[in-house]
Amino acid sequence: MDPPTDDIELKPETLEEEIEGGPLFHCDFCDADVVDKVAQSFLPGLASACVDNTTGGLFKTPANVAVEIRKEMVENLVQRSENFVAESVVLEGVGDVEVSADSYDIISDFVDDFVHSKRNFFSRVSGWILSEKREDWIDDLVQEMEINGFWLLNRRSTVAQTLLKNLDFRNTYHCNMNFKSPGDLEKHKLSCGFRTLSCGNEGCDSSFSAAQMEHHDSTCAFKMLSCEQKCADIIMRREMDRHCITTCPMKLVKCPFQSVGCQSTVPQRTIEQHRSDNIPSRLLYILQVSHKGESLEALKQRVQELEKVASPGRLASARDARSMAYVVKDLEAKLGPIKVHTEKKSDEDVKDLIDLREEKTNIEAKQVRFDAEKEAIGISESSRTPNESFN
Ligand SMILES: [Zn+2]
Ligand SMILES: [Zn+2]
Ligand SMILES: [Zn+2]
Ligand SMILES: [Zn+2]
Repeated sequence: MDPPTDDIELKPETLEEEIEGGPLFHCDFCDADVVDKVAQSFLPGLASACVDNTTGGLFKTPANVAVEIRKEMVENLVQRSENFVAESVVLEGVGDVEVSADSYDIISDFVDDFVHSKRNFFSRVSGWILSEKREDWIDDLVQEMEINGFWLLNRRSTVAQTLLKNLDFRNTYHCNMNFKSPGDLEKHKLSCGFRTLSCGNEGCDSSFSAAQMEHHDSTCAFKMLSCEQKCADIIMRREMDRHCITTCPMKLVKCPFQSVGCQSTVPQRTIEQHRSDNIPSRLLYILQVSHKGESLEALKQRVQELEKVASPGRLASARDARSMAYVVKDLEAKLGPIKVHTEKKSDEDVKDLIDLREEKTNIEAKQVRFDAEKEAIGISESSRTPNESFN
């Protein structure tokens, strides 16, 4: 947009740098998390080397070679890290060199190689490497080193930083910015992506590079979050799963009346409401099971009777299909057998009807007689015809 101004602003700086060529001030911030991980791996590595180096020996113990082997180990690791990028170029050819493997993995390989190189004859031939005893000895030595403050973490971290800087030519884990004055450097450090920050979530003691802040926050187990199922609770991330499947009022539960026809899945907190909804359809389902073969009309009528005779809230209080079936049974005992209001036949009438059915020779007469009977007892239009009922 405005090239002349850019030129003027850029040129003097470039010139100044070329002319002065003076000492630059480096930002030496490293990814705290990776440095820590690498530094933590040094003690077990050193302990393994010491144990394997002295196994079966008479005059040396792992502990009394530790100082010497540590020195060798640090020198070995630093040298390998210095050569690593150059070696990779030679091995993989010039061009787009993929030295993208995780620096931590590369350092782990260096440590393994070093440990391997320190094995003595006995370690190599005796099957010692695979024995459980070896693991125990290594663990013991690591503990001993920690208790005695041998090779403290901050010292190991310094070594880890050196290795990382050598390997990390893409600046994934460390800052490589240079500044002309200490003031500029200090200013940069306040906003450097590799400056170490601590997690602000209560209970979490993690620290990490500023650039990793967002990533950490998105996975921090101590972060307080709104419930994933959208209840009103605020839950710690690590408690979320448990909350959602146990106490969350929005947890989905199967309707307790599944066995009597309701396939709904409803939030736990609405289950009370859901239970008191649709009572008639549930009653009907229960009656259909207990009065197989009864007409739908008759059962619907029975449902109404049940609702009428039940004390308020009695039916809604049934928590599941079984308890509702008990309530129904109880109420039905009061109501007596099902009878459709249109079929108020006396025993006499029923007997007549049976006779009718048996008189196969006089169908017309039967029909007339039945019609007359219908008249007398007031069967409605919608109720059964003789054929439906008795054939
Ligand atoms: Zn920096
Ligand atoms: Zn955290
Ligand atoms: Zn919830
Ligand atoms: Zn239901």
